[in-house]
Amino acid sequence: MDHQTAFIIGAILMIANGGVLGLVHREILPQLQASAVTWRRGTLLNACACVIFAVAPWLTPKSVILLTNPLLILGTMAYWQSLRQFHHRPEQPALFAPGILAMLGVIIFLTVAPSFKLRLISIDLGLFANLVGCAHTLLTAPRRSRSLSRLVLAYLFAGSAAYILLRVALVATLDAHLPADQIFPPANPVHELAPILVSVIPVVGTTAFLLMCAERLKRRWKVAASIDYLTGLPNRRTLHYRGAVAFERAMAGDAEFAVALIDIDHFKSINDRFGHDVGDQALRHIGHLLAGACRDGEMAARQGGEEFVLLLDGADAEQAQIAAERLRRMVEASPYDDDTGPLALTVSIGVAAISAADSGFEHLLSRADQALYRAKAEGRNRIVLAASPAVSL
Ligand code: GH3
Ligand code: MG
Ligand code: MG
Repeated sequence: MDHQTAFIIGAILMIANGGVLGLVHREILPQLQASAVTWRRGTLLNACACVIFAVAPWLTPKSVILLTNPLLILGTMAYWQSLRQFHHRPEQPALFAPGILAMLGVIIFLTVAPSFKLRLISIDLGLFANLVGCAHTLLTAPRRSRSLSRLVLAYLFAGSAAYILLRVALVATLDAHLPADQIFPPANPVHELAPILVSVIPVVGTTAFLLMCAERLKRRWKVAASIDYLTGLPNRRTLHYRGAVAFERAMAGDAEFAVALIDIDHFKSINDRFGHDVGDQALRHIGHLLAGACRDGEMAARQGGEEFVLLLDGADAEQAQIAAERLRRMVEASPYDDDTGPLALTVSIGVAAISAADSGFEHLLSRADQALYRAKAEGRNRIVLAASPAVSL
């Protein structure tokens, strides 16, 4: 395929891809919209460069170079900026320096001190810095935002940067007498790859970028579905999943495991006296206390209403009672400070430790519930340990 056709196809694909991104960018998480807009800018800048390369026979070589080279530099700069925005990295104007120097180099070695080799090396080094910046931003992203599409994009940028280095090495060996305004280096299999690369990065890159956005959205939904919106603690769904896993593991490994079911005393009267909003604040306060009090192997969750559950991995009945008593005292000693003054809160706790007779996590939890019922009946603000169920032989 000749250069012209390759650039025309590349430009069409890029404009189509940029258009898709433009259409869907409102569906993207609000936090990612700035990054999507910057990415689209990068793709459209590259597309413009391709269009100019495609119509190069009708323009002067100088104007083709003066238009396309800055467009390619600005396009890759936009990708780098977009990826930094995607990963919430702070703005760093200094990162634009390699691109700006490259553009200056192109102008100087085209007009002031004409040199084909130095002009090509200038633009290539600018592109190299931007591509390495993109790959680096993706590869050093926090573990939680790592995904397959991110890796594909990182290796696409890293591979392109390696190709550019190879091109620099080849250009350095070229005849020094080539005219400075010759657009492309003399035909060579390595140089023939350049138009393909100029098209592949924006097209494959934009698809990978869209997938990265989708994966970020999926992860957000997953977190939202596992967290209780009011307290930020794991919700009932997560509790029952984690509880069942911990229960099965303890049973299989003959290890200890216990649960503590925590219920706020006379909570209805808080709603009745101070209103539902204050009730919500009090629930948040208790959630915060429980989350802060968890030690290694412990997990607090909101089971629903004013009931919380503490999973105690590796704790036997005695250790679970000690942990529950620690929580009970902490709540008693930490009233919720409302505008109207301190609001004393207490909790009753039912504790149950795993037994061979427990048929599953739900069974263990129901024993803790019975113990909680006794704690309420015996006067509240106390803990009660569930009796071990009889093991059927
Ligand atoms: P006890 O000491 O026997 O547990 O008494 P209680 O009043 O705490 O228990 P009861 O089951 O009678 O009342 C629980 C109350 O919790 C009733 C319900 O309105 C309130 N509640 C449940 N979920 C929420 C919530 O998300 N926000 C607020 N503000 N109140 C809630
Ligand atoms: Mg209750
Ligand atoms: Mg209650």
